[in-house]
Amino acid sequence: MADEVQHWRVTYNDIHNLIRKATPSIGAEFNPDLLVAIGGGGFFPARVMRTFLREQTDKKALQIQAIGLSLYEPVEGTSAEQIGNEVIRTQWLGPDSGKLLVGKHNLIVDEVDDTRKTLHYALSELKKDVEVELAKRPESEREALRAATKFGVFVVHNKKKPKLAELPEGTPYYTGEEVDDLWLDYPWEATDIEGHDKLAAQDRASLS
Ligand code: 5GP
Repeated sequence: MADEVQHWRVTYNDIHNLIRKATPSIGAEFNPDLLVAIGGGGFFPARVMRTFLREQTDKKALQIQAIGLSLYEPVEGTSAEQIGNEVIRTQWLGPDSGKLLVGKHNLIVDEVDDTRKTLHYALSELKKDVEVELAKRPESEREALRAATKFGVFVVHNKKKPKLAELPEGTPYYTGEEVDDLWLDYPWEATDIEGHDKLAAQDRASLS
């Protein structure tokens, strides 16, 4: 592995290729109408996935919406105890969140599933927004709209470890790669991308 603290460096090309490989089954099975990127790590993966989904499906206008959630990053006004324990909203879909989601196949996209707390929070809060929207619709339409509204998850990496939260049973779940419980260094966190890529190549060479 990369060094003593068990970091694993991931390159832009690694991520692009994992998404390229994962997308055909996502397009065929879940067929997303909307990508909900969890920022900041989900932004780049969602954008890349849209390229492949547009190629595969007829949804040329496939939209990406963004939500901001923070578990590890200190955000202003956050106490030390909250960091790493609680999921904090830093950005949401806006007052009409439920309206954007209702009746659609919504794929939540993030870079990594670690403890699963972030995904659990995102999914349960987005579902609440759907219920708020459904309550505004005529009762006769509600059940059909609820049934037509689907949530799925895509993460580039899933860490093989016990999770601290679960997703509702049957939630379509896709991952680019299952990885050991290491700290992943993503390319968008690097200030020297050439140095990052060089070290990533060395990590791989040392494994082979
Ligand atoms: P979870 O809620 O699943 O514990 O964590 C999700 C968030 O924690 C991710 O969206 C990411 O921001 C951060 N995170 C967890 N593990 C890693 C990692 O190995 N590398 C990096 N860069 N971020 C991580």
